[in-house]
Amino acid sequence: MTYKLACKDTGVSCPFVAQGETIDEMMEVAVKHAKEEHGYTDEQINDPETQKMIKAAIKQE
Ligand SMILES: [Zn+2]
Repeated sequence: MTYKLACKDTGVSCPFVAQGETIDEMMEVAVKHAKEEHGYTDEQINDPETQKMIKAAIKQE
């Protein structure tokens, strides 16, 4: 099972797709990318609305 989170599914125009074998592993990649490439802060990432959007955008393959 692979978990995927496409940046574009969170409303950003970006081709990056975070992947991982667990949600935690995938989120670590996604959060690092969001901070480095999009200037997100921990506060923004931990916002309940953002968390809801992220969870809705996660895909399993
Ligand atoms: Zn991105």
